[in-house]
Amino acid sequence: MKNLCSTTGLVDFHCHLDLYPNHKDLILECERLGIRTLAVTNAPAVWSRNRDLAAGAQYVRVALGLHPQLAAQRQKEIGLFEQFLSETRYVGEVGLDGSRNFRGSLNVQRRVFRQILELCAISGDKILSVHSRQAVPEVLSLLDATEFLRRDRGKIILHWFTGSLAEARRALDMGVYFSVNQRMTTTGNGRRLIEFLPTERLLTESDGPFVSYKDKPITPKAVLDTVNQISSLRRTTAKEIQSRILDNLRRLLQ
Ligand code: MN
Repeated sequence: MKNLCSTTGLVDFHCHLDLYPNHKDLILECERLGIRTLAVTNAPAVWSRNRDLAAGAQYVRVALGLHPQLAAQRQKEIGLFEQFLSETRYVGEVGLDGSRNFRGSLNVQRRVFRQILELCAISGDKILSVHSRQAVPEVLSLLDATEFLRRDRGKIILHWFTGSLAEARRALDMGVYFSVNQRMTTTGNGRRLIEFLPTERLLTESDGPFVSYKDKPITPKAVLDTVNQISSLRRTTAKEIQSRILDNLRRLLQ
C-alpha cells in the first residue's frame, strides 16, 4: 500500500479547513506539503474570514458556499453570496440534500441552488463543488434546466457522490467531475463508483473534518491514502493515479 512517499502534487478538492480548531496551522501544512486544497465554506457570512486567512497562499483556494443543509436558516445570505461572488472563482459547498433530516427544506434548497447556478452562469468560469446526497436526479435536473454545463458557464464537481452508476453515467455525459474521499473507498457503492469512473474525471478530497479515521477527523494529507486505495481498485500505481489527478485539476483550472 505505501507505494507513495510524497505528498507533493496531492489534491484535496473539498475540505472544510475552517471547521478545524487549528485552521491556520492546516493552511500552513497544505502550503508546506504542496497539497492543492479547495477550502469550501458553508455560509457567505464566513467568507471574508476564510478569504483573509488564505490570502497569499499558493496551494489553498477558498470557495464561497451556502450549504444545502443550512439553506433554510441562511437563505437571506444569498445577497452576501452575490456580493462576494466576484472575489473568487470557486464556489462550494452548494447543492441539494434530500436525506431524511433535510428533505423538508428541499423547496428552499432548490430555490437557493438555482439562484446560485444562475449567478454563477452570469459571472461565468466558476468551479463548483456540489453536494448531492439523496438528491442526484434533482441536482442533475437543475443543472439541465439552467443549461449551466451545456452553455459552458463553468465546471461542476460532484463531491462524495453516493448515487447509482446509472446516475453517475448521466452526470458524466453532462461533463461533471467527481471528487472521491477515503470513506467512499470503504463502501461497496463507493468502490464500484471508483472502478467505474473514467480516470480523466477523477479528483480526490478529504471532506475533513466530516470524515474520521480511528475516531480522529482526517486532514488534507489523508488524500494520500485515498490515492493508494484508488490505485489498488483500478489496478494501477499510486504514482499514475496521483499524476492523472493533478492533470485533471490542471485541465479543470485552465
Ligand atoms: Mn463537505
